[in-house]
Amino acid sequence: MSLKSKAKPMQSPDPTLSPSSQGRCGAKTRNGSRCRTWRVMGKRRCRMHGGAPGSGAPKGSRNGSYKHSGFTCEAIEERRALREMVAEFRDMAKALW
Ligand SMILES: [Zn+2]
Repeated sequence: MSLKSKAKPMQSPDPTLSPSSQGRCGAKTRNGSRCRTWRVMGKRRCRMHGGAPGSGAPKGSRNGSYKHSGFTCEAIEERRALREMVAEFRDMAKALW
């Protein structure tokens, strides 16, 4: 009939519910079990348990537990990449020997 009938809002693929994110939420639910909803990308909880966009503490120096730039998301990611590179080189060296 109309274009509207094509849209299925309840079945639209939600990126925050996809298994491609790191894992389950794991928050304790009212019946004592763990929340099995997928985590929001880049967060540790699902969107119902504090993972909603805009929720949570501010990033960087605006955060209360900020001490220095050594533990910002960028710095952690940089170290992770470096570690991976080192491991790769080690594997390469192993293959050569
Ligand atoms: Zn949850």
